[in-house]
Amino acid sequence: MKSGTSIKKERVIEAHEIKTIRYLLDLPFNDELVSSWIARNALQYGIKPSQLSTLIFEDTDTWKGDIDVFLNPKKITTLNKNTGIDENKIQSQTFYASCSYFYNQTEKTPQVKWVMPLGVRTRKKSFGLQYCPCCLSEDGNQPYFRKSWRLGFMTCCPFHSVQMHDRCPKCHNPIDIKRLQKHKGEILYHPEDIAYCSKCGFDLRKTQYIDVSSEEYGINRVNFIQSTTGYGKAGNLDFCYSNLYFEGIRRLLSFVVCSSNGKRLFVHLKRELQLQQMHHREALGHNIEPERLGINLRRTGFIMIYHLLQDWPETFVNSCKITDTSSHMIKTPYLEFPFWVSDTFFFNIHEHRFLTCDTEKKNIINYFQTRLKKKINLNQAVRLVKNLRETN
Ligand SMILES: [Zn+2]
Ligand SMILES: [Zn+2]
Repeated sequence: MKSGTSIKKERVIEAHEIKTIRYLLDLPFNDELVSSWIARNALQYGIKPSQLSTLIFEDTDTWKGDIDVFLNPKKITTLNKNTGIDENKIQSQTFYASCSYFYNQTEKTPQVKWVMPLGVRTRKKSFGLQYCPCCLSEDGNQPYFRKSWRLGFMTCCPFHSVQMHDRCPKCHNPIDIKRLQKHKGEILYHPEDIAYCSKCGFDLRKTQYIDVSSEEYGINRVNFIQSTTGYGKAGNLDFCYSNLYFEGIRRLLSFVVCSSNGKRLFVHLKRELQLQQMHHREALGHNIEPERLGINLRRTGFIMIYHLLQDWPETFVNSCKITDTSSHMIKTPYLEFPFWVSDTFFFNIHEHRFLTCDTEKKNIINYFQTRLKKKINLNQAVRLVKNLRETN
């Protein structure tokens, strides 16, 4: 089965356009990465992707940046001048302009959470681009890379139910479609060169298919649907706004997988779900963001989230009690939590046998103050908690 969004549209070129267009390009597929679109067009002309980028953007630097995430408006105008392609069409292809279903854009920086870094500005190897070997095979003579393959909340293909790969299975280098190579002895580039590892030449379509568990498939379907439709069901919860869902699972994943306070909960869930994968959770740096985690750790983390969402918040609250995880360990004053997660912290988790500590009390007061938009003291907060518990 193939993504319904990848159907190519016919492009009608007006007579007045022909005079100014210097390079005639195929339009991007709806779910295609900007870098994949440029690479695919370059290969059709038989030239190197960076060369086509230089021609259409009139500089050599644009190709070096992360153009899947952000394209400066001046560059888009230049691109429009040289190719005649609608500026809005190209703009909407970038994550910056199309992330509202999974990230609240502040518009202060071009950064978009959940998009995995490619390491373009650092020399460190980054495994920020994944692929599904089945999708690439089914693309025939026009293989291309999907936007969802760069999103940290995807670990398997939602159409083929096979694991995604974030590196070449032969040489273990990151997937890099920006430095594609010609086949040995060939003078020109070929449209299918995009499906080969740029380091060792392995045909990525020949990667062994690895079937996924129903849990991994389940959470990937939820993430894919939420991120493409803007709403959806997740376990026993219904979300009208998918960004509230993504904000919540981001906080949960950060706590369970990335924070030192969440280690006991992680170990408990791993045992309960009988997850066998080997991980070096300890080797993670402090406050690492979920999109910077390796694919195996993300996979494990999401299976845990899927399990917790099935009867939210019951299993989560019980697991916190078993592992002595209290709400002040999870909540920090610097981060905002969507209501479905923070309500659980306040009305369920703090009830366990430990007394509420000062930080928790302060957090509860702050919480009510923000909600009521007025100052309150501790006794008033206690009454409010009681009232809320009774009405629940
Ligand atoms: Zn696929
Ligand atoms: Zn390779």
